[in-house]
Amino acid sequence: METKQFQAESKRLLEMMVHSIYSQKDIFLRELISNASDAIDKIYYKALTDDSISFNKDDYYIRIETNKDNRTLTVKDTGIGMTKEELESNLGTIAKSGSLDFKNEVEMKDGQEIIGQFGVGFYSSFMIADKVTVFTRALHSDEGYKWESDGEEGYSIEPYDKQDVGTEIIIQLKENAEEVNYDEYLEEHKLKSIIKKYSDFIRYPIKMEVTEQEPQEDNEEEVVDVIEDQTINSMVPIWRKNKQELTDEDYESFYQEKHFGFDKPLSHLHISVDGMVRFQSILYIPEQLPFNYYSQDFEKGLELYSNGVLIMDKCADLLPDHFSFARGIVDSEDLSLNISREILQQDHQVKLIAKNIEKKVKNHLLSMLKNDRDKYEKFYDAFGRQIKFGVYSDFGANKDKLKDLLLFYSSSEQKLASLKEYVERMPEDQEHIYYATGESHDRIEKLPQTELVKDKGYEILYFTDEVDEFAIKMLMNYDDKEFKNVSSGDLDLEDEETKKEAEKQKEEHKDLLAEMKEMLGNKVKDVKLSTRLKTHPVCLSAEGDVSIEMEKVLKQMPDNQNIEANKVLEINSKHDIFQSLVHAHGSDKDKVKLYTNILYNQALLIEGLPIEDPVALTNDMCKVMV
Ligand code: ADP
Ligand code: MG
Repeated sequence: METKQFQAESKRLLEMMVHSIYSQKDIFLRELISNASDAIDKIYYKALTDDSISFNKDDYYIRIETNKDNRTLTVKDTGIGMTKEELESNLGTIAKSGSLDFKNEVEMKDGQEIIGQFGVGFYSSFMIADKVTVFTRALHSDEGYKWESDGEEGYSIEPYDKQDVGTEIIIQLKENAEEVNYDEYLEEHKLKSIIKKYSDFIRYPIKMEVTEQEPQEDNEEEVVDVIEDQTINSMVPIWRKNKQELTDEDYESFYQEKHFGFDKPLSHLHISVDGMVRFQSILYIPEQLPFNYYSQDFEKGLELYSNGVLIMDKCADLLPDHFSFARGIVDSEDLSLNISREILQQDHQVKLIAKNIEKKVKNHLLSMLKNDRDKYEKFYDAFGRQIKFGVYSDFGANKDKLKDLLLFYSSSEQKLASLKEYVERMPEDQEHIYYATGESHDRIEKLPQTELVKDKGYEILYFTDEVDEFAIKMLMNYDDKEFKNVSSGDLDLEDEETKKEAEKQKEEHKDLLAEMKEMLGNKVKDVKLSTRLKTHPVCLSAEGDVSIEMEKVLKQMPDNQNIEANKVLEINSKHDIFQSLVHAHGSDKDKVKLYTNILYNQALLIEGLPIEDPVALTNDMCKVMV
């Protein structure tokens, strides 16, 4: 007999399981049954693709047994079993899928939540077990093995003469405690109700001996207890069922059984298509953002079944990137079982299904936006950025599909608004859709550049996500209305009289402005008198395609090509500081230079741009103070 230590992560997880005070202990059975079902799936799949193996449906089942005297609960399956190596790597270390995510998350959350949020798989049996024993024999293997552990330090493995291929897991229940009566896991009705609740849609029979009361043969009046072998689950995959037969709870428990995400799904859609391609699908939109969603680690994809047999865990080709948040399954009778990953990408059927799914998800979201605004905003809060990325990426190939799903914070409504809502509210004389960019609503609220647009009574959309402006530039316009940054150089909102006055002033102060421009060199493209500023002394605006906010984002990119906005320093001629400049002009060049520098740096600060030389700036400010 060999004894081995658990891997460090496993130990931590096990410790939590053993000392768990988690209220939903019942889920251990769901975990073991779903592993058993996976194991049968694997053998079924092999048989379908390998002529040397035959699959007789009756030979494949999951069986639950209890022994009240020994206080043990057994979960048996006729699945593919495990080799010695598989036993070690699968049960000695934290396996794949749900458990791997867990590994990353374990530092961040407390144990209670972890168990609720992740399928912690096989180890969850230690919530109720003092000792777990696994007997298993792999397909095409002559040897069986026994694995045993108390869930503390390590486990032991030894050869074991097991007759049939498959796995048998024996749980030695913990001693009953004041708060928990572990004996309930020996009770028929308790086990039945857990199976019904969590594992009803498992495709293989979950069998159990059940005591039924039947009338006596010779005396109909009297009843006797008869023990019958029963299949507890309904076995019809949930996606094959009629929508009308299913409740929200059914969908929720399927989501949990499949470990599609944290908590409850925000929304689900059940699709059944019978056209050019036939398929059924259940898709979910998670409520919470997966912790690695906006990172390289996140893998999109749907479970793909061919006529009820799982052929791929995460088929990425079924989902466009802009809807990568969707989780769920697709089952199609038109797909070949032998389909390989490479062929799948080219497969015509898969392409048709993907197209269909994209359309359905889009319409689902649009109708949520229309009919359940709160829910949609919850969705958007988590996944809105992905939609914006979708508008922007692939050179805008998907922008028209996605534009109506966009929401931005509105200056006038003080809440999120869609572009459609914005355009419908536009006053007649307004030609453009205005937006302002910044770190936060508060910051944007205070931007000097918004003054003129707000004065005109126009609504401004606030862009606080880095991707916002890039997405909007890709979109270019909505309903023929062009987007305009309130900081762009050519707002053209002034009335004729203001314009005339501005021309006059410009002429009058030509020399001063030219001198200031010269002093700033190529830090700015121009120095102008502003027509948009009402109370603030200065601001920066940008000419051309690249805005100041975009410059900031581009500068952070690893392969930044030093793309800069064409900045224009705008001075408010009605501000007192401008009069001081006019005074100094022609008599005190140093003072003009000093003021110009300070004003330029102030404008940078307002934009949230870095000050090139903070020491020089503070020195300049001291000069003004003394
Ligand atoms: P997961 O199911 O998420 O991979 P688990 O902890 O539930 O994680 O199971 C770990 C692994 O152990 C499984 O992936 C599978 O390879 C193996 N396993 C568990 N139970 C069985 C079983 N009944 N038959 C065959 N293999 C099993
Ligand atoms: Mg599992």
